[in-house]
Amino acid sequence: MRFPLVVAIGGLSLALLAATQATQSFKYQVHDMTRPQPAKVDPGAVGAPVPAPSDAIVLFGPAKPDLSAWRSGDGDAKWKVRDGMFAVEPSTGDISTRDQFGDVQLHLEWLVPVEAKVEGQHGGNSGVFFMDRYELQVLSSNPNVTYADGMAGALYGQYPPLVNACRPQGQWNVYDVVFRAPVFKDGKLAKPATVTAFLNGVLVQDNAELLGATAHGARASYSPHDPTGPIRLQDHGDPIRFRNIWVRKLAPRGGAE
Ligand code: MG
Repeated sequence: MRFPLVVAIGGLSLALLAATQATQSFKYQVHDMTRPQPAKVDPGAVGAPVPAPSDAIVLFGPAKPDLSAWRSGDGDAKWKVRDGMFAVEPSTGDISTRDQFGDVQLHLEWLVPVEAKVEGQHGGNSGVFFMDRYELQVLSSNPNVTYADGMAGALYGQYPPLVNACRPQGQWNVYDVVFRAPVFKDGKLAKPATVTAFLNGVLVQDNAELLGATAHGARASYSPHDPTGPIRLQDHGDPIRFRNIWVRKLAPRGGAE
């Protein structure tokens, strides 16, 4: 009788451990409406566009006032440029950079038109995908409310922004981001991707470790991929406007010397 009892207790312990791990791993479900909304922060008035530094690759801006750095599929980008900005052309699909990037500093400005009818994830949605797969959400979030891991400044489905520093519709929002690519070794994740992001000068992601490629309604996971990939802007069906986009390629982060 002793042996089966030990086995039974062992089995029960394993089951309890598994249940504990499952509930302890994540406090909230993906897109959990009970996840607290980040505190609102007024970022102040919109400033003048930040000029691209000398070592930046301009993807759109005064030095490159067209979409030649971008593509739709294998062809030219189908979104429209007007008055020094460009806008999502709904239902033409996402656009991606022709260049490939790994670790980067990104500057990007976006605006949700004042006339857009926004509700939750609809009407004011786009996104910036690093390496074609890791989304920093673009969403009208002032005063629009949605699940915390899907608002402006969120790493979609993974991390809400630390605070809500989004400006109202009709005003420019500014992203400044440091993206570090994941590292894979022998077909396995050796180091996760990380994101530090400022929205309108306010820290919204602090070296957040991504859980994997962006997923909708599902827990993210990694699949090995190339060390570089395009930056992609999302066509979510809404005419979000963009201007002043530049990147700086970053060397791997070094230690003290
Ligand atoms: Mg999006």
